[in-house]
Amino acid sequence: MYRIYGLQLLMEDTWKRIRFPDILRVFWLTRITAQATVLMYILRMASETDSFFISWDDFWDLICNLIISGCDSTLTVLGMSAVISSIAHYLGLGILAFIGSTEEDDRRLGFVAPVLFFILALQTGLSGLRPEERLIRLSRNMCLLLTAVLHFIHGMTDPVLMSLSASHVSSFRRHFPVLFVSACLFILPVLLSYVLWHHYALNTWLFAVTAFCVELCLKVIVSLTVYTLFMIDGYYNVLWEKLDDYVYYVRSTGNIIEFIFGVVMFGNGAYTMMFESGSKIRACMMCLHAYFNIYLQAKNGWKTFMNRRTAVKKINSLPEIKGSRLQEIDDVCAICYHEFTTSARMTPCNHYFHALCLRKWLYIQDTCPMCHQKVYIEDDIKANSNVRSNNGFIAPNENAEEAVREAAAAESDRALNEDDSTDCEDDVQTERNGVIQNTGTAAEEFNEDTD
Ligand SMILES: [Zn+2]
Ligand SMILES: [Zn+2]
Repeated sequence: MYRIYGLQLLMEDTWKRIRFPDILRVFWLTRITAQATVLMYILRMASETDSFFISWDDFWDLICNLIISGCDSTLTVLGMSAVISSIAHYLGLGILAFIGSTEEDDRRLGFVAPVLFFILALQTGLSGLRPEERLIRLSRNMCLLLTAVLHFIHGMTDPVLMSLSASHVSSFRRHFPVLFVSACLFILPVLLSYVLWHHYALNTWLFAVTAFCVELCLKVIVSLTVYTLFMIDGYYNVLWEKLDDYVYYVRSTGNIIEFIFGVVMFGNGAYTMMFESGSKIRACMMCLHAYFNIYLQAKNGWKTFMNRRTAVKKINSLPEIKGSRLQEIDDVCAICYHEFTTSARMTPCNHYFHALCLRKWLYIQDTCPMCHQKVYIEDDIKANSNVRSNNGFIAPNENAEEAVREAAAAESDRALNEDDSTDCEDDVQTERNGVIQNTGTAAEEFNEDTD
């Protein structure tokens, strides 16, 4: 839920205005201080010694008792969330200052952590449990919360890491804090899961914590790998054509693993719901998880993959200039202003670019960056000629999506039949032109919609 900024911002604002957290915090802290004083007094009476200090065991009991009674009702759980909010807020600010990030959006840790804590408490029915069970449940929730906070911190460090490596800043003092935090983000989850596995038998909770930890470690590895790639690129200072590919592969591997973890966590949640504790809140959370972490991620990943594939296809259809002709044109790439070292791609409008630069451009736009003519000339010409032969009349296209699907089918058919389709070329050609014309209008319609 916290990824929808619009609603969240509204809630956050209202939340701040009524100063509800402050009231809760004061209430909770006052209550706990009062309880601590009373308990201390009782302990002193019971032990009958004059010493001011109490023993370590007594102290530990006292803390446990305070924590148990600190979450014995929904109201006290809210108070506890408010206290967690302050801690998380200052922790977040501290880390942001340490890594030198100015991202406003990343200040939300003070909001995200308590909300997560509260949802976890509701989901596990924390306040309704028996005292001794409550302490165990609370510590388990805290472990989950800790891993979630670490994931959030990774989200804060990743952009800083990327901008540092991409901007080729070479000062050690700028890099060290981010690398240090990244190292901590790797070591902490390893330590946490090691300790937990040492003390507990496997159950759904331990499984969830471990999965979160492993996922975090993998995310850190992906970030650091991309960082290293960019640093190597910056160090050698020549255009590294394959860099973009490598970064893409590393990132998509990371995303695929994250997606798999999302599915596994969903399975774990479903198991918990069926065999351990099924509640409406858990069901809601699982729906949210399925939507954000599984559905949206798969959708975005697929979209990126398709964009990339289309762009590569377009580039490959353009003539490649190499060797002596490359020296003849003696030009620079109009996108990055670097010289052509090995090869250049020529657009139908006679402009030259690096294949890599042009590909990045084609993710966003279909036209030449210099003159805004269509880059993907082959099919456009056919479509245009078709339109001309119809005296410029374009049949109104009622079902745009249908046309796109047909075109996609035709596209794949063509890819399959590319080698052996000479005898029925003419028939196919006319059919294809019809489809392409449809696609042309459909694309225009889409463009209008998106504009
Ligand atoms: Zn270039
Ligand atoms: Zn051009």
